[in-house]
Amino acid sequence: MSKPTPVRLGKSLVVAIDGPSGSGKSSVSQEVARRLGLAYLDTGAMYRAVTWHCVNLGLDLDDAVAVEQATRSVELSLSTDPDADFVAVGGADVTAAIREPDVSTAVSAIATKLGARAELIRMQQQMISDAGHRMVVEGRDITTVVAPDAEVRLLLTASEEARMARRGMQLGGTQNSRQLSTQVLERDKKDSTVVNFHQAADGVVTVDSSDLDFEETVQAVLDAVHSIAD
Ligand code: C5P
Repeated sequence: MSKPTPVRLGKSLVVAIDGPSGSGKSSVSQEVARRLGLAYLDTGAMYRAVTWHCVNLGLDLDDAVAVEQATRSVELSLSTDPDADFVAVGGADVTAAIREPDVSTAVSAIATKLGARAELIRMQQQMISDAGHRMVVEGRDITTVVAPDAEVRLLLTASEEARMARRGMQLGGTQNSRQLSTQVLERDKKDSTVVNFHQAADGVVTVDSSDLDFEETVQAVLDAVHSIAD
């Protein structure tokens, strides 16, 4: 693997990337972090891990108070190394379990509880600070709420067709189109009730990856990073 290209050495460099489900933001963000030698934070994995925890505790996911309490007390450990995908809850490795369709279906119930969100946002801001403000952070509200002062702020979009096809490939062709639509479009619809990740906020640059392959999308993000003053 080639060595990372140093950018803004000794200075902060937070690259905030938002986008809907299936936009390719996780794999693109991870690769951008690798190439720039930055830490990487997948905030969706945090919402997924809390969801796994609440389901594991047998909580009613509509009980906002119980969900908020569980979010406050969860013992969450998440790798911020772009080369090491690892998520644990209370010491149990949940890296694979949080990607299962049952978690994808339930996660919006957690993400729409404002008390739980506030707690997760606080944890994410702490993790950015712990990384010395040199991190690629991706999710739904990073450019607007978690890191509105990020040096680079991008919205990664793609057409519905492209997003469903990508998520289908990620899941190894195990899902039919109705299941994919539930996991991609219906989840976005529920998530959109608390965060806006379909339109770029002021100062946020849109990268539409519908007609770009993976490498071209990575390059488009790297171009945006290199366009800011060093
Ligand atoms: O990115 P990913 O699809 O893994 O995110 C899983 C879920 O986590 C989203 O559907 C959304 O409900 C929630 N989420 C969020 N805010 C973020 C990141 C993810 O609400 N910043």
